[in-house]
Amino acid sequence: MPIHEKHLIEKQKIIQKDSAELEGRDVSGQWNIFIQQRILSQYHPSMADEIASTPDGRTINRCWQCGTCTSGCCMHTDFGLREFNPRYFIYLAKIGDEEELKKYKDVIWRCLACNKCVERCPKDVRVEEVIHAIDGYMRKKGWMDDTPASRWDDEYVGNVLKTGILDEIMLLRNYIRDEEMKEFNAGYMMRMGMNMLKTGRLRTGPIRHRTKGWKKVRKVAEEILEKDGYELQ
Ligand code: SF4
Ligand code: SF4
Repeated sequence: MPIHEKHLIEKQKIIQKDSAELEGRDVSGQWNIFIQQRILSQYHPSMADEIASTPDGRTINRCWQCGTCTSGCCMHTDFGLREFNPRYFIYLAKIGDEEELKKYKDVIWRCLACNKCVERCPKDVRVEEVIHAIDGYMRKKGWMDDTPASRWDDEYVGNVLKTGILDEIMLLRNYIRDEEMKEFNAGYMMRMGMNMLKTGRLRTGPIRHRTKGWKKVRKVAEEILEKDGYELQ
């Protein structure tokens, strides 16, 4: 891998206190950089292959570590969560570094799925999907618990599987209830929901939209999900 992390780099200070120059040469030691020696104790050479074999992770090996995804990532820049570094997550997955990857178990699931990284990646890596695949791999291995994002995914899939069309109100209602999101602006959502219901832009509960012949299609959808490694709730 061509890029090494800042925290693995140390500058060796070998020169005198007073001067940084000697006979016209820079002797400050700032040029004298060493990569810290590390021993990977929890190393999984097959990690990248396993991730690449999942539908979301199939483009992981295209990454050449340019960092374009991270520099434009909404979570990393706009929301200032510097630890959220898609390039680094991909790097760790490619070298199979469990120990380092685990340090980000409270961060990696915070992807907003805005897909800005996908638009910008020069190597056509489906970055958002790959991050999702790494997150899924970590949960499958038991390195991290279910997260608000994974619970949202489960709620979403369960909702769509019922009739073949998403019932947004039920999705939000169940998720807010299960996550105990007390700070949620229920009044605003109620008003918006009522207006949408009145104008026929939203259908929920008994009047929700249904896909014709969904019972048959549902079986196929479930088979595909299971084949892709998704555990149906
Ligand atoms: S922009 Fe693409 S190629 Fe560059 S680091 Fe991100 S995923 Fe890898
Ligand atoms: S999809 Fe996720 S990783 Fe990509 S830019 Fe948005 S927040 Fe960042």
